Amino acid sequence: MLELVLATNNLNKLREIQAQLQVHGITILSAEEAGVPSSFDVEETGKTFVENAILKAKAFAAEAKRATVADDSGLMVTALDGQPGVHSKRWIPGSDEDRNDYLLEQLKSKSDRSAQFVTVLALYLPNSDQVHTFEGTVEGTIAEKAAGTEGFGYDPVFIPTGYKQTFAELGVEVKNTLSHRYRAVQKLKTFLESWQQ
Ligand code: IMP
Repeated sequence: MLELVLATNNLNKLREIQAQLQVHGITILSAEEAGVPSSFDVEETGKTFVENAILKAKAFAAEAKRATVADDSGLMVTALDGQPGVHSKRWIPGSDEDRNDYLLEQLKSKSDRSAQFVTVLALYLPNSDQVHTFEGTVEGTIAEKAAGTEGFGYDPVFIPTGYKQTFAELGVEVKNTLSHRYRAVQKLKTFLESWQQ
């Protein structure tokens, strides 16, 4: 039985990935269950989602002494030249709500409200020193105002294409069937299933 550690202390990411990543013969552990202290933090110095996901996967693997999967993700807004992108978490100081207010303010005079959520998952296998990355994206638009209470981060301002409500209004169950993270997890799942055979 292979043990795979989810290299994150973000409980929302953890819950979303855990709900989707069930692979026969693989036990998924949270970082805490693998003995990584919740205070463990990795400086995200990479310039891309791929670089940061790999950084996190390797750093957690060194602590947990097991194979890891790390998630680096963010929101790319077309009219802001792809910002906040890899800086999504700490785009401006304050809370998620402050960042959503700031984003809505930045888009006030823009007609193009299109945006994309991106997730890169990095699987790191320390025994063979191998890294595999899996990307998922979802297109959408930024709402005129924040709405909804579920999820986290920019969920209250992101309306996925084909829907009229934000991720935070649609709820995590719906989000988990179409999100960037869901799509990246499906690719990882396919890889793990074929690798297990
Ligand atoms: P990181 O991947 O830990 O560097 O941070 C990702 C940041 O992007 C989060 O703190 C959120 O602000 C944002 N983000 C990533 N995925 C999502 C999502 O599924 N919903 C809303 N915000 C997200």
